[in-house]
Amino acid sequence: MFEMQPLPYDMDALDPYMPQTTMEFHYGKHYKNYVDTLNKLIKDTGFEDMGLEEIIQAAYQKPEHQAVFNNAGQVYNHQLFWKSMAPDGGKEPKGRLAEQIKKDFGSYEKLKEELKNAAVTQFGSGWAWLVWHDGKLSVMKTANGDTPVARGMKPLINIDVWEHAYYLDYQNRRADFVEKWLDHLVNWPALEE
Ligand code: MN
Repeated sequence: MFEMQPLPYDMDALDPYMPQTTMEFHYGKHYKNYVDTLNKLIKDTGFEDMGLEEIIQAAYQKPEHQAVFNNAGQVYNHQLFWKSMAPDGGKEPKGRLAEQIKKDFGSYEKLKEELKNAAVTQFGSGWAWLVWHDGKLSVMKTANGDTPVARGMKPLINIDVWEHAYYLDYQNRRADFVEKWLDHLVNWPALEE
C-alpha cells in the first residue's frame, strides 16, 4: 500500500505563487485521490508488491491496465512536483548543474524558455519536464498521467499544468503561472545536491 508523502514545507509556504487554498485542494484532495485510487486498483493484483516505478513500467501501453498506469503516474508525478518547488525558489542553478545546463541548452535563459514553451503548448492536461537521458538534459512534455519514467528516463524537475494546479489563482493564464513558477518556486538546490 502506498502512503502520501509529506510535503517538504508548510501548506502556506508557497504563498502567494501557489497559495494555501490551492495546496489544500491539490495535495489534500487531488494527490490523495490518486494515492487512494491506486491502492484500491492494485489490491489483490500482481501490482501489489511492486514499487511505484515498477508499476508504471509494467502497466505502460497496456490498455487493460490504463487506470493503474494513470494513477501510478499521477502519484509519481505529484511526488516529484512537491519536491520541484521550494519557498524562496527560482534562483539560478549553480555548480555542476549550471555547467550541464550551459552545455545542453546554451544558457539558463534558454532552458527556462524551453520549459515554458513545453508547459504552455501541452494541449489539455499534462506535465512539462526536465529529464536526464542518454547523458544529457532535455525538456519534454507528457499528457495526463503519463511520465518519462515509463520510457526509462530519469525525471529531474516537473511542472504540473493540469488546470487544478493553477486555475484558482491564474484562471486561464497558464503562461503567467509557469512564469511565476520558474521565477519564484522552482527548486534547483534540490537537484544540485
Ligand atoms: Mn496535479
